[in-house]
Amino acid sequence: MSQHFLLSAAARSISLRSVLRMEEKEAWAVFCRIRWENTDGQPVCPHCGSLTSYDVSRSTHPRYRCKDCRKDFSPTSGTLFAYHKQPINVYLAAVVLFVNAVKGISALQLGRDLDLSYKSAFVLCHKLREAMATETRGFVVGGEGAAVEIDGCHVGGYVKPANHKENRRDRRKAVNQNGKRRVVVAIRERDGRTVTSVFRSEDEATGFIANRVARGTAVHADEARSWDALHARFTMHRINHSEAYSLDGACTNMAESFFSRLRRAEWGQHHHISGAYLARYAGEMAWREDHRRRSNGELFRLVAGRAAKLAQSVDFTGYWQRKAAA
Ligand SMILES: [Zn+2]
Repeated sequence: MSQHFLLSAAARSISLRSVLRMEEKEAWAVFCRIRWENTDGQPVCPHCGSLTSYDVSRSTHPRYRCKDCRKDFSPTSGTLFAYHKQPINVYLAAVVLFVNAVKGISALQLGRDLDLSYKSAFVLCHKLREAMATETRGFVVGGEGAAVEIDGCHVGGYVKPANHKENRRDRRKAVNQNGKRRVVVAIRERDGRTVTSVFRSEDEATGFIANRVARGTAVHADEARSWDALHARFTMHRINHSEAYSLDGACTNMAESFFSRLRRAEWGQHHHISGAYLARYAGEMAWREDHRRRSNGELFRLVAGRAAKLAQSVDFTGYWQRKAAA
């Protein structure tokens, strides 16, 4: 029997050990090669795009001055890592820990591993999720001859049962729920990408599915009535899960596998995912699912590469400061 990819040495192409062992200069060189991939680490002015600059560093933190526009910049200027406060290899280590955690990693755990405050770890994790999300932003799956699976998974809105039996209410009734329950809808192309979004109910997802699935795609879904509206647009294959999980070519098992990973992240790592952030966690899990057969070094380069090129975070730069001011 052939060995599972994740057990092979090829799946381990980067390690926390190697990153933490780096001297600061070496870690900056790694960061520069990730940020300025096309010039093999040679600085490119973020203000005017010039390739000619000179070193004006006054510490181990590199600083450059552009010969054309005379402005100063650092390798992190204008990226998700701008205004960073920790040595650069702590961020590289955070990315390694983050990509190695196949079911996600909680901010508390990352903070304990790297001695970061909960707030710093929380913001860092969300910035990495933001970088992951750019890969499938506006992405349309499927096409002529392709097949996608659609399904929904309810998250949140837990209502604790009362202590005494006589005080307990039927939590299945809407009146006894707290309105915080959301559904993550996933569209997963077979041998392709997974795109997700969050709604109050599956019925609201029709427009999203129509926008993100190309015409001519065969769509597989379960028997839930919410998907009936899709028959007008796509060739549908419905599977009744009370009869079988795969029947006459209809099957949503790949969408279910994705939800299995999301559930494990929710229950095993985060314990509770608030509605406001649910879409980000769903996107992260979709990214992990789609890239599950890549080596961790490749995953590191994908995430760090996007984070190092992505403009400053709109949502998370100064996140806690803004909260305090509000
Ligand atoms: Zn310049």
